[in-house]
Amino acid sequence: MGLAEKYGLDNVFIAKADDVIRMAQKSSLWPLTFGLACCAFEMMSAYAPHYDLNRFGVLPFPASPRQADLMIVAGTITTKMAPAVVRLYEQMADPKWVIAMGACAIGGGPFVHSYSVVKGADKIIPVDIFIPGCPPRPEALIDAIIQLQKKIQAVG
Ligand code: SF4
Repeated sequence: MGLAEKYGLDNVFIAKADDVIRMAQKSSLWPLTFGLACCAFEMMSAYAPHYDLNRFGVLPFPASPRQADLMIVAGTITTKMAPAVVRLYEQMADPKWVIAMGACAIGGGPFVHSYSVVKGADKIIPVDIFIPGCPPRPEALIDAIIQLQKKIQAVG
């Protein structure tokens, strides 16, 4: 018999505080406004009515990195842009997560041999989920969000 039944408390939800906090975190992700190249168009279309990413608890882009807990690196990271990526990541609220979206964010993509391109987001910041493709479709981003939510809930 559960505690709620034992004490006659109908409609009472009993859980560890950590589990409830993680449930809230995974259900209200705030991605930083952050598009670096063509993959960003697929990210934007994932928010459009056809895919409606909001229904998975991914909220509209906050204006400040201090209000964000998710960075979706969508596009090519140039060496000139890399310090800004790191700085924005450091300014984000803890706990925070990163999705590398597309071949460029994973490893440089078609520009892998360029002198001016970083060979993957994980060379400069920690990455939780990688999405292959050039570009990945919005469905792939939605799947990555679901995988990330599972990862957030499983921590601890
Ligand atoms: S992976 Fe392809 S679509 Fe995405 S930013 Fe690179 S070149 Fe553009």
